[in-house]
Amino acid sequence: EAKHNGRNQWCIFDQSVRGKLICRNHLKAILADALDNDRFQIALQPFCKFETGAHSGFEVLVRLDDEGSPVAPDLFIPLAEELGFISRIGRVVMQKAMAARQAMVQAGLRPGKFAINVSAPELREPCFALEVQELLAQHDIPPTELVIEITETALIGRSTQTVASTLQQLHESGVGLALDDFGTGFSSLSHLRDFHVDKIKIDKSFVHDLEEDASDRALVDGLISLARRLGIEVVAEGVETTAQRDYLRSFGCDYLQGFIHSRPLTVKAADGQGCDDLSSGK
Ligand code: C2E
Ligand code: MG
Ligand code: MG
Ligand code: MG
Repeated sequence: EAKHNGRNQWCIFDQSVRGKLICRNHLKAILADALDNDRFQIALQPFCKFETGAHSGFEVLVRLDDEGSPVAPDLFIPLAEELGFISRIGRVVMQKAMAARQAMVQAGLRPGKFAINVSAPELREPCFALEVQELLAQHDIPPTELVIEITETALIGRSTQTVASTLQQLHESGVGLALDDFGTGFSSLSHLRDFHVDKIKIDKSFVHDLEEDASDRALVDGLISLARRLGIEVVAEGVETTAQRDYLRSFGCDYLQGFIHSRPLTVKAADGQGCDDLSSGK
């Protein structure tokens, strides 16, 4: 949790690194160093078709280690956005993701779609769509194999015109758009109306309590019905248990992502696993 000790002084207690205390200035130094020395890595988390379990693609997740312990993206991404580092990090992630996908294809695998998380400041850059298209071309990737994941906060606030035009350019080139963490943001329904949304990703906070919470079941069931009527596909994220999976299946969810299917993998592991899983086309 973030603890505010006055301006520029906050520290974070991060449970994922077992109580390690990371101060803002330290984290800032870690980020700058990681950019300068190419220390960002990516992990690939597979997602599959709900009905058949067939491999469908990978979500790309940035990874950063500090002296051997992982620093959670939920910690450093917001700071990177604030400090103006996020576009450089985003480029590194995109570059590594596309290189990994190209290598898989060259190895005879069928990696499926790559879904990449993109932050608001990246979408505000006028050249973003063009850069993405250039990177895709350089790696021989059809634009329809790329999905951009954004949260709804990217659609509100500053420079909405630039963001809208970037999203329109990406849509026209064939790149897919997924609304991430769906249900936790604002004015979700108007976003579905106003943008070319291909997928929504139901936030894991709704998935988590499906077994215990009848309201969450009603919400998720309703969201999935709504999405279907709008021709939007639904990904459930954070699926961990068979009970969660069974509810989501009964609601007609299209794609499954979560530890029950696979944890995020290193590029190497995704590659190795891919040999059987991905080329069998099951
Ligand atoms: P997200 O895009 O919603 O990604 C899903 C998060 O849920 C990932 O956390 C993933 O590791 C985790 N997850 C997947 N399956 C399960 C499960 O079954 N149970 C639980 N408890 N968690 C699961 P991660 O990798 O820590 O990333 C956190 C967030 O950081 C992401 O949420 C995304 O908003 C942001 N992020 C990650 N990589 C990038 C990136 O390259 N660029 C940007 N801008 N943001 C990123
Ligand atoms: Mg995501
Ligand atoms: Mg999400
Ligand atoms: Mg999230």
